[in-house]
Amino acid sequence: SKKTYSNFIQDIINKDMEENTYGQKVHTRFPPEPNGYLHIGHAKSICLNFGIAQYNNGLCNLRFDDTNPSKEDTEYVESIMEDVRWLGFDWGDRMYYASDYFDKLYEFAVELIKKGKAYVCDLSADEIREYRGTLTQPGKNSPYRDRTVEENLDLFERMKNGEFPDGSRVLRAKIDMSSPNLNMRDPVIYRILRATHHRTGDKWCIYPMYDFAHPLSDYLEGITHSICTLEFEDHRPLYDWVLRELELRNPPKQIEFARLNLNYTVMSKRKLLKLVKEGYVDGWDDPRMPTISGLRRRGYTPESIRDFCNRIGVAKADSIVDIGVLEHCIREDLNKRAKRVMTVLRPLKVVIDNYPDDMVEEFDIENNPEDLEAGTRKVPFSKVIYIEKYDFMENPPKKFFRLTVGGEVRLKNAYFIKCNSVVKDENGEIVELHCTYDPASRGGESPDGRKVKGTIHWVSAQHAIDIEVRLYNNLFTAANPSDDTEGKEFTDYINKDSLEVLKGCKAERSLLNADLKERYQFLRTGYFCLDSKYSKEGSLIFNRVVGLKDTWAK
Ligand code: ATP
Ligand code: MG
Ligand code: MG
Repeated sequence: SKKTYSNFIQDIINKDMEENTYGQKVHTRFPPEPNGYLHIGHAKSICLNFGIAQYNNGLCNLRFDDTNPSKEDTEYVESIMEDVRWLGFDWGDRMYYASDYFDKLYEFAVELIKKGKAYVCDLSADEIREYRGTLTQPGKNSPYRDRTVEENLDLFERMKNGEFPDGSRVLRAKIDMSSPNLNMRDPVIYRILRATHHRTGDKWCIYPMYDFAHPLSDYLEGITHSICTLEFEDHRPLYDWVLRELELRNPPKQIEFARLNLNYTVMSKRKLLKLVKEGYVDGWDDPRMPTISGLRRRGYTPESIRDFCNRIGVAKADSIVDIGVLEHCIREDLNKRAKRVMTVLRPLKVVIDNYPDDMVEEFDIENNPEDLEAGTRKVPFSKVIYIEKYDFMENPPKKFFRLTVGGEVRLKNAYFIKCNSVVKDENGEIVELHCTYDPASRGGESPDGRKVKGTIHWVSAQHAIDIEVRLYNNLFTAANPSDDTEGKEFTDYINKDSLEVLKGCKAERSLLNADLKERYQFLRTGYFCLDSKYSKEGSLIFNRVVGLKDTWAK
């Protein structure tokens, strides 16, 4: 809708279109580096880039920004494609690799040398840093800055041909060593690096730097608006410089927006990789990870993630979004579409002494009160049932409306029951309740109008299936685990209770047919889905997507 894209980026685009700056379609790109799995921050960039293109009847490319061979891998390429598709976006036939442009980028570099705008520098990395100066001090010219064009062309070609060791020489843009912007102080645009590239193998031993490769990749693909995160704001003069010095027509325009930060998690691929490598989590798709694959396994829907990205909007200043907003989005989505079922996570056996031994009744229970078309299902009831341990208290506080000795409670859609006595094991723990039911209260109301405040869920013991349930909490105990002011590492804030595994949970039989693609509301408990990695026929494992209670204050 119009409203969705009334943000400052769309304003810029509107203006460009009015002035016909591009005289063509809006063309954006999503440019991940295939050095890790995508996370929810990337989802924001994906929704923004593909969303802007859709809204303006334009195009959006998927481009792998693979100019740094040492960290990149085809495993990541594949996961990225899967995640973008799963989020609901389509790049059509416009999937590119920056590495496809290595030849052209090399030619552009030669062109810059010919224009006297780039030179081969023999300073070491440390020396370059030293010569660069600081924010308060201008830099010094490299002693190699005035090499002739011929010498530079010769050396650059020999760099490419592998005549020099790694790190011995670089190609630098010749800009201004006293620029107030450090990025403009003769930045390195090519380096020597012998590393096998995931696509070009060992063809190249020199690789272009991001600031050189990115504007030119954008240009080569006909990108009109190159949307990136705020940390590149200081790089924009260099982005523009490269395109201007090469005298390229219709240059793309870089626009920066604030990256998404979420509390109680980390979002840098380097940190996520560490969590995976050091075994803090069960892979990139661990349901506690903020990765798209983790959220998918956790049970998030693409719709809820897109909704989240739209809600948080696009800003020009960094901020931290409460994880509760994300949870709110999935809760709202699942409330509309999740089938309701009864499960008992921490079972307490209840024997209904006055219920006939062999009798089984079936109650018609609605599948989703929010969705009239979802219909009803038959749920069996019998003499022995399970209820949640927390629904009974021997010594209840005031206002405890669930089951107590002598008290009465409503079994959801079934009967009123009253507890008469408890059975304890040798440790004094309650293991069984003895109750009586009121046959007149069938369906959950008594003809005498008797008030029963509490309603609890239940599962018939003889019909129940056993399931395993995994409850997830925040992976970190600190709101900002990346804040290292106290000399701590983010891994020091790992939440030891972020995963709770419950075995021997009891579920109504209908869950035997649970579908990997479905999510369920376990009545009074939360939203759950099958774990796509470990759940098997005969040993079903459910992940808690999110609890029922909305903690996000609107
Ligand atoms: P990381 O810091 O996690 O390694 P990155 O920016 O290096 O992230 P890229 O693969 O280069 O990862 O990201 C692809 C695109 O996604 C870039 O345009 C980047 O700006 C954007 N992006 C990455 N993280 C976020 C975020 N947290 N919020 C919004 N956009 C992001
Ligand atoms: Mg990047
Ligand atoms: Mg990165």
